Amino acid sequence: MFENLSERLSGVFDRLTKQGALSEEDVKTALREVRVALLEADVSLPVARDFVKTVQDQATGQAVTKSVTPGQQVVKIVHDALVDVLRGEGEAGALKIDTPPAPILMVGLQGSGKTTTTAKLAKRLKERDGKRVLMASLDTNRPAAMEQLQILGAQIGVDTLPIVKGEDPVAIAKRAKTQASLGGYDVYMLDTAGRLHIDQELIQQAADVRDVVNPRETLLVVDGLTGQDAVNVATEFDDKIGVTGVVLTRMDGDGRGGAALSMRAVTGKPIRFVGLGEKMDALETFEPDRIAGRILG
Ligand code: GDP
Repeated sequence: MFENLSERLSGVFDRLTKQGALSEEDVKTALREVRVALLEADVSLPVARDFVKTVQDQATGQAVTKSVTPGQQVVKIVHDALVDVLRGEGEAGALKIDTPPAPILMVGLQGSGKTTTTAKLAKRLKERDGKRVLMASLDTNRPAAMEQLQILGAQIGVDTLPIVKGEDPVAIAKRAKTQASLGGYDVYMLDTAGRLHIDQELIQQAADVRDVVNPRETLLVVDGLTGQDAVNVATEFDDKIGVTGVVLTRMDGDGRGGAALSMRAVTGKPIRFVGLGEKMDALETFEPDRIAGRILG
C-alpha cells in the first residue's frame, strides 16, 4: 500500500556517490522523502515540517559510518528523532495511583473505545499491579453504555458501582468515591459520557465530575485511526478538562500511527497505552520504538 520509507531512502542514496559525510544536498533529498512519508502516515503538516527541520539540523555534516549506507544512516537519524518526540517523561504505563482510593477519569468521544479501554485498564491494574478496582459509568444518556461496563466488569472480575436510575453524573461520581473509600478500593475509574463530537455539555459534565473527585489521572481515549482529527480532540479536551495521558485505540488497524506523533508534538501529553484489539487483554504500554518503526514503514 505505502512504499516503504527505508527502501525509498536507500534508493535515493544509492544514486549518490559515497562521500565522507552527509552533505546538505543529500540530506535535503532524503528529507523530502521523509516529509512525504510522514504526511502519508497522517502526521499533520506543521508537525511534519518542524520534525523535518530538526532532523535536517541533526543530520547535515554527520560523518557516514563505514558499516552502514548513507540511506540507512538517515533512516536511523529519523527513527531516533521520532522516538525522541514520541517518548513522554517517565514510564508510559506507570499511573499515579499511589494514595487509595485513587480516581481515574476516562474521557473521550463516543465510539473511541472508552468503555472497552476502561475495562481493559481495570483488568490490567488488577492482574499486574494487584489493585482492587471499582468502575462506574457516568453515561446517563445511554443506559446501554452503563450496562456494557457492568457486563465487562463481570467478565473480568472487577466490581462496578450498582446502577441507580435517574442519578446525574456528578451524583454517581460522588457515590463511586464514597463506595471506593468504604469498600477499601485502591482505584476507582469513572467512564464519562461520550458524544460523537465535542460539545459544551459534554465538556461541562466532565469538568463538573473532575471538580468533585479531583482525579489522579485523566486519560483521554482516542481512536488512533482518526489521524489529525484525533489531535484536535486531544487539544480541546486538554484545554478544557486537563488531560494527564492519552490512550490510542485501534492500533491493531492499518493506520500508520501518525496521530501519535502529531498528538505528542501538539499537546505534549504522554501516550500511555495503546489498544490492540477488542479483547480484554488487548492493551499494551505505549512503546515509542514500535510506533516510530510503523511510521517509517
Ligand atoms: P465508547 O463509545 O468510546 O465507550 O466505545 P466502546 O468501548 O464501546 O468501543 C467501540 C467499539 O470499538 C467496540 O466494538 C470495541 O470492541 C471496539 N474497540 C475498542 N478498542 C479497540 C481496539 O483497540 N481495537 C479494536 N480493533 N477495536 C476496539
